[in-house]
Amino acid sequence: MTDVVQNRSDVQTRIAKARAKAVGPAPATTLIAVSKTHGVEAVRALLQAGQRHFGENKVQEAQAKFPALKAEYPDLVLHLIGPLQTNKVREAVALFDVIHTLDRPKLLNALKAECEKTDRHPALFVQVNTGAEPQKAGVLPADAAAFVAAAKAAFGGQLKGLMCIPPVGEAPAPHFAFLRKLAGEAGLADLSMGMSDDYETAIAFGASFVRVGSAIFGARTYPPKTSV
Ligand SMILES: *Cc1c(COP(=O)(O)O)cnc(C)c1O
Repeated sequence: MTDVVQNRSDVQTRIAKARAKAVGPAPATTLIAVSKTHGVEAVRALLQAGQRHFGENKVQEAQAKFPALKAEYPDLVLHLIGPLQTNKVREAVALFDVIHTLDRPKLLNALKAECEKTDRHPALFVQVNTGAEPQKAGVLPADAAAFVAAAKAAFGGQLKGLMCIPPVGEAPAPHFAFLRKLAGEAGLADLSMGMSDDYETAIAFGASFVRVGSAIFGARTYPPKTSV
């Protein structure tokens, strides 16, 4: 069985080393343990070891796993790192503390209305599709500055920073550098970037949140697709 507690400790050590080597690292780098597809036992083991930030990419899966854990650990911080459909905004605002995937005007409006209605104010990140990949979520680089300005006008300090997922098979560094530049121009402090294969590189470019799944939990097995 995967020793998630040992893995998490190893990742924390590598984060500390990467921060020590970085020129101008973020003031702090928070490790988000990405628990998607993994069961609550592993999450519970990490909670007992002191881990508090967890990431999920699907609202429904998070709803099945986290309400009870949040009741037990009031300082658990739950991050939504996957695409958010407007028809799931109500559930997302009720459950998540941080939403990393704000990427279009329709979602901005739905989130704003829901936050006002419920007086819940999850921290927000704008996702930027730095590789301009057609299949990927996120605002396109050319539209990013205008969209971030709109999000700032709507949410003020609730908007914390920018998030990206570099294209598979490309060197991630230019994407991280680009995201850092955009955030600097927009006056946003936080950068959500870096996954199991590239979080040390992300830290070198100022990541304040790294989202690490398989390096902690082991490989994910997805249910087989029902159609092709
Ligand atoms: C799954 C996922 C991660 C974690 O990926 P690993 O390669 O397993 O570390 C990070 N960010 C997002 C948006 C993800 O969907």
